[in-house]
Amino acid sequence: MTGGTFIDIAAVRIGDYLSRTPDLKGRRGASAWLSHASHRAGLPDWLATVTAQLPTRPEVNPEAGEADGLIPLRIPTGPAGDPHSGGAAEEVARTVVDALRRRLPGVWLRANWAAADSYLAAYRVMHDPGTGAGLEAFPPLPDLPMLATCARCRVDPAVAAIDIHEEGNVPVCADCEARYTDRYRRPGLWHEHVPVGAETDLLEALSLTPRQVVQHFTELAALGAEDGNRNHLATVHIDGNGLGALFDHIARYGDRDLKARVSARVSAATRTALVEATRTVLDSSRTVPVIPHLVGGDDVLVSVVADRAWRFVTTYLEAFAARMRGIDGLTDHLPDGQRVTASAGLVFAHATFPFRRSAELAGAALRTAKQEHQGRDAAVGWLDVTRDGEQPPRHRATWTTRALAELGPALAALATVPASGRAVCERLIDPDRPALSAARLREQARRLDRGDVLDPFLTHGGPAAVADALSLVRWWR
Ligand SMILES: [Zn+2]
Repeated sequence: MTGGTFIDIAAVRIGDYLSRTPDLKGRRGASAWLSHASHRAGLPDWLATVTAQLPTRPEVNPEAGEADGLIPLRIPTGPAGDPHSGGAAEEVARTVVDALRRRLPGVWLRANWAAADSYLAAYRVMHDPGTGAGLEAFPPLPDLPMLATCARCRVDPAVAAIDIHEEGNVPVCADCEARYTDRYRRPGLWHEHVPVGAETDLLEALSLTPRQVVQHFTELAALGAEDGNRNHLATVHIDGNGLGALFDHIARYGDRDLKARVSARVSAATRTALVEATRTVLDSSRTVPVIPHLVGGDDVLVSVVADRAWRFVTTYLEAFAARMRGIDGLTDHLPDGQRVTASAGLVFAHATFPFRRSAELAGAALRTAKQEHQGRDAAVGWLDVTRDGEQPPRHRATWTTRALAELGPALAALATVPASGRAVCERLIDPDRPALSAARLREQARRLDRGDVLDPFLTHGGPAAVADALSLVRWWR
């Protein structure tokens, strides 16, 4: 156990940043650069090159878990202590931030640092706005607003013209130019659509090859079941519940060993859950039905073919909670014996619906799920853009994984009711008149000759729960 000055350099609003180009190729291009810098295997070499001229040489912080867009560093404390570590930390932070910004000019970066005897203790200080020292590097505002806007992201002014797919001479900003062209000049990238970072890790864990990934969102949607429409995707954002409070608690009361390894174990739990959930939804075609866009310490943002998204999410949440229970010593340190879980937001939409908007809506559904259950239970919020529009229906609840598991057989039974019969049920529901709606629904189920198919939901939460279930079974397989 060694202390020192810990420096976290992280991409801010990384989901927004990655999704500013509309297609998968631009997103993968940005991820390539970010993960090239933050991927643990290549980080020490990259860091050594970037900081070669500095008097203080930082090392990769071994106590931090792996996360896309995060570069965790440490300047070890010398034998006599180092009174100037703050100045040295700032110099290191600035140097690394500048190196990243040269690659991806549009990325927002933040660096924070603090001296402490463990990363967790430093983490508390550096991420507290009142006490942490840090610097922020935001993309400069364009000086010449009359310039043409980048044709890909519409965010920054165009500075170059390049060929993208079959289009020639596309005006692009500096950031998009890096996304679409520079990465292909990197050695070792033999194929222009090669997956990178978290996606490569996922392929390796599943013993699959880069040829088993899709190249476009429409191809991903086309992996849907034959009897479906094969043009819908789910955008899924999953995040751990109460991890900040947990780290805080361990930093105060945990033993040294747990402090040193908990961040890395959480990050490992996230990656294992992603692999397990993806394995569950692989079919005989072996084409990966999941594209990880972002894998952070305890959060993931992925696209999944719509009709496998529920299975993916429920498997993930179960696997994550199980892995967290498996961390030695952790249960002893949880405040009030609370289980560590994760929650999810799912957004179902046509494959051509803007990815950026889907990612925002998935983030909103995730926040609702966490709020409704105070982050104490694994819960799922969802939105079906094709049916609901961009606002969730007024009476839509978020469901815990426990409720989804208990009502799983009832959902499977409801899914066998023909779509026309389910549509009739939907129209009979007036959430403001629950008793009348329940009576109408029971009568309709009797008419469909499916007597008790709605009863489990009526018992669970009245007609509003039936409405939820009818939305849910659209993609429940
Ligand atoms: Zn651009």
